[in-house]
Amino acid sequence: MDVYGLLGNPVGHSLSPPMHEAAYDELGLEARYVTFEPEPDDLEAAIEGAAALGISGLNVTIPFKRDVLEYVAVDDLASRIGAVNTIDFSGDVPTGHNTDASGALRAIERGDVDLEGARATLVGAGGAGRAIAFALSDAGATVEIANRTESTAHDLAEEVPGASGHGLEDLATLVPDSDVLVNATSVGMEADVSPVPAEALHADLVVMDAVYRPLETRLLREASEAGATTIDGAWMLLYQGVDALERWTGEEAPVEAMNGALRSGL
Ligand code: NAP
Repeated sequence: MDVYGLLGNPVGHSLSPPMHEAAYDELGLEARYVTFEPEPDDLEAAIEGAAALGISGLNVTIPFKRDVLEYVAVDDLASRIGAVNTIDFSGDVPTGHNTDASGALRAIERGDVDLEGARATLVGAGGAGRAIAFALSDAGATVEIANRTESTAHDLAEEVPGASGHGLEDLATLVPDSDVLVNATSVGMEADVSPVPAEALHADLVVMDAVYRPLETRLLREASEAGATTIDGAWMLLYQGVDALERWTGEEAPVEAMNGALRSGL
């Protein structure tokens, strides 16, 4: 029996267990996916304990994504982002990876867009924004980062090749010239509001919202009304799990089964 899990605090409402266990069932793997809630001071002990107990893989979520960098061998992408969401225990030492970034990219690619040379506007420069900024840049897009706290956008843009920083007011002029638009702020979760002026949206855009509760945010509704291709936040959540599972098991993930389990929990 292989054991995988999620390390975070709190993790009570996570959709990862049903999503991963649907994959194990589909693939006929004898495995379980469980949640762990260590106290922040016990993070190092938790990772050492997981390795000692033979746990095969862990996802990592709030508040541990940054702190975990100290305790695992981090790959280049996760190191540049400064966050790990997936730990692989199969080698001599635990290794840390960032499948939020690779998963976001796979989600955006559902929009059938060639990111090499594409113009991307990214709203938000927090944890999700950092991962998506590096992912888009690595895929060859130029990335215009707009953030409420403009200085954070400039700071992130300095780290990301081909990126520039902006305040949110620049969205009115950036979005009409963009091929891809990603919302990586929490705007749209609590209230029916959008971080992007509706007039700036257009039919040649691929729009992804990282927010997955609700699935259809105001941004996606208005983008759809403008004729844009829309990708909801559950796709990003799905593909970060797909990439983690493929890394851990070496199997091709049963994407449909995982997607069904995820969406039935939303
Ligand atoms: P975070 O690190 O706290 O960053 C929050 C971001 O939202 C910052 O850029 C912040 O701007 C901005 N923001 C917050 N309130 C705002 C407001 N009222 N107006 C304008 N901007 C505002 O959070 P995070 O982890 O990046 O998560 C951001 C969103 O992505 C959340 O909704 C989360 O659920 C979602 N997410 C989804 C996935 C997925 O797999 N689909 C993965 C990770 C996160 P300031 O810098 O100015 O504060």
